[in-house]
Amino acid sequence: MKKIAKLFGVLIGTAFLVFVLDIGCIFRTLTGFPCMGCGVTRAFLAFLQGHVVDAFYYHPLFWLTGILIVLALWKDGMVFRSAKANRWFWIIVLLVYLSVYIVRMVLLFPDTPPMDYNYEAPAYHLYQYILELFTKSS
Ligand SMILES: [Zn+2]
Repeated sequence: MKKIAKLFGVLIGTAFLVFVLDIGCIFRTLTGFPCMGCGVTRAFLAFLQGHVVDAFYYHPLFWLTGILIVLALWKDGMVFRSAKANRWFWIIVLLVYLSVYIVRMVLLFPDTPPMDYNYEAPAYHLYQYILELFTKSS
């Protein structure tokens, strides 16, 4: 019962951040670069509206993300009884996400949503500022 409450708490908290505050991805908001999870929310929304192809376009692993969140919260990340098997499971999950991220970055970055660059990001403005300093001094 405690785990169900925890799961719903996280889901409601996430929904509040995403829909009410409309913050989007914190990593992308700050750095400008999309993260490994960018597109998952859009994918879920598309899937819930019956647009399955769009959902896989926004994030090919959105379905796995849902399962992993439930596993992580429900079973505290213990998918297997053996700690070694668990460690390898999460390492493989990370590698799968990283591989998909690299492919999506190569295919879509920097112009195609959800892997587009955020030119409003503070990191981009900082980069522009530093660039300006160097171009003015020479
Ligand atoms: Zn992101």
